[in-house]
Amino acid sequence: MADPAKADVVTMDKVVALCKRRGLIFPASEIYGGIANTYDYGHYGVLLKRNVIDAWWQAMVGDRDDIVALDSAIIQHPRTWEASGHLAGFTDPLVDCKTCGHRFRADHLDLSHEEARCPRKPSVVPGEGPECDLTEAREFNLMFETTIGPVKDAGSTVYLRPETAQGIFLDFKTVLGFARRKPPFGIAQVGKSFRNEITPGNFIFRTLEFEQMEMEFFVPPADAQRWHEYWLEARLAWYVELGIRRDHLRLREHGPEELSHYSSATSDVEYLYPIGWQELEGIANRGDFDLRQHARYSGERLEYFDQATGERYVPHVIEPAAGVGRTVLALLCDAYDEDELGGERRTVLKMHPRVAPVKVAVLPLVRKDGQPELARQVHEELKRRFQTEYDEGGSIGRRYRRQDEIGTPFCVTIDHQSLEDGTVTVRDRDTLAQERVAIAGLAEHLDCRLKARWTSPKLDS
Ligand code: ATP
Repeated sequence: MADPAKADVVTMDKVVALCKRRGLIFPASEIYGGIANTYDYGHYGVLLKRNVIDAWWQAMVGDRDDIVALDSAIIQHPRTWEASGHLAGFTDPLVDCKTCGHRFRADHLDLSHEEARCPRKPSVVPGEGPECDLTEAREFNLMFETTIGPVKDAGSTVYLRPETAQGIFLDFKTVLGFARRKPPFGIAQVGKSFRNEITPGNFIFRTLEFEQMEMEFFVPPADAQRWHEYWLEARLAWYVELGIRRDHLRLREHGPEELSHYSSATSDVEYLYPIGWQELEGIANRGDFDLRQHARYSGERLEYFDQATGERYVPHVIEPAAGVGRTVLALLCDAYDEDELGGERRTVLKMHPRVAPVKVAVLPLVRKDGQPELARQVHEELKRRFQTEYDEGGSIGRRYRRQDEIGTPFCVTIDHQSLEDGTVTVRDRDTLAQERVAIAGLAEHLDCRLKARWTSPKLDS
C-alpha cells in the first residue's frame, strides 16, 4: 500500500497558517508575545470544536441508554490526587542541556519524536551533539498547583485536574444512586484539563490546557476485556463516521513499559498527523484501581450491590479518553486540500458537513437589482435551521474561495434568474457541481444533503 502521508499536500505549517488567517485558532496572549503552548479559538474554531463535542455527546449519551452525563469540578479535594496516584506518579523524566539551556523528555530522546532534536545540530538527538551536556533525568510533576484562600501554606494547596476522569470516580456512588443504572453503565464528561507540559506543542496537539471527552464505563470484572475490545472498535468507528480517512487511523496497543500506573491494558487510537502517527485517544482498561483507591482514601464503599442476586463487587472500568483539540487537529489535517480552480490555487477544507463550522453561505451574485434583499430573506429562513452565513463582499469567485477555506459544504447563490423564477443555485464544495433549486424547497434540499452519507473526496486523490 502506498504511504498515505506521501500523497497529501498538508503540512502542520499550512494548517497553522490557515487557522490563523481565518481566525479559527491562534496563539493566546498574542499582544504580550504569546504564552507557551496556549491557543485561543475564534468564531469558526469554536463552531468546529462545538460540533466535535456535540458529535461525541450524541454517540455517548444521545444514541445510547447505558451512559449518563456529568460535569464535575476542575478543583477537587487534594486527597483525590494522592489516591489516584497523580501526586506520586504523574511525572515526566526530564533532562536539561547545560550548553543550550533547553529541556527535553528523557523518554523521548530518539528521532521518532519531533521535539527531540538538538537545537544546535537538529540532525541529532539531544546528547549526541558535540557540545551537548545533559543532566541526569529528574522527575517533574505535570499537575498545576494553586491555593485556596488568601494564605499560601501546605494546607491550602490544590491542583487543577490533569484529567476529567477522577471527578467521575469521586461521584460514582452519587450517580449510581440517582441514575438507576447497573453495570455495565457509563458516566461521560467533557471539560478542561491542565498539564504542565514541558515539551513544545506542535500547535494544538499538546497544550497546557485542553478539553477532554472522557467516559468511564463500569462493568462486572469478568466482562472487562470484552468491553475493552468493544470500545476500541466503537471509538475507531466514531472517527471514521466523522469523515476521517480510515487509512489515516490505526489502533496501537501499549507495550508493558508504556502502561500508566492505573492501567492493565491500553490501546491508542492514532492518527497520521503531518508529524507522524500520534495518539488521538487512549482507551484503557483501568481495572478496579481507581474505585479501590478512592474507597481506601475516603472510607466510602465504592462498589455495586446487586439486590437481585445479593452479589457485591467493585466494578472494573473501561475508559475511552479523547482530546477535543487533537480531534479538531486531525479533522483539519485530514480535510486540508489545495487544488486548481479556473487557473487559481484554491485552499479547501474537505470535511464532513456534520462538523463543518458553517453549513451554508448565502451569496447574492451582484450587490444590486434586488438580489441582496432576496438573499437576505433566504438567509433569514435558512439560519433558523443551519449555521448560515451571508456574504456580499467581493467577487463571487473570492467569496466561494473564502467559504471553501473554512469548509462550508454549500453555497447558495442568488442571481437575476432567482428574482424571475424563485430558484437559486446550490454549489457543492467538493464536486463544484451547481444545481438549480427552488427557494420554496431549499431548506429541505439542504437538510437532506447535509444528512447524506459523506466520505472524504481525498480518498480518490
Ligand atoms: P501523550 O502520551 O500524548 O502525552 P497521554 O497518554 O498522556 O497523551 P491521556 O492521559 O491518555 O494522554 O489523555 C487522553 C487524551 O487527552 C489524549 O489521547 C489526548 O487526546 C488528550 N491530551 C492529553 N494531554 C494533552 C495535551 N497536553 N494537549 C492536548 N491534548 C491532550
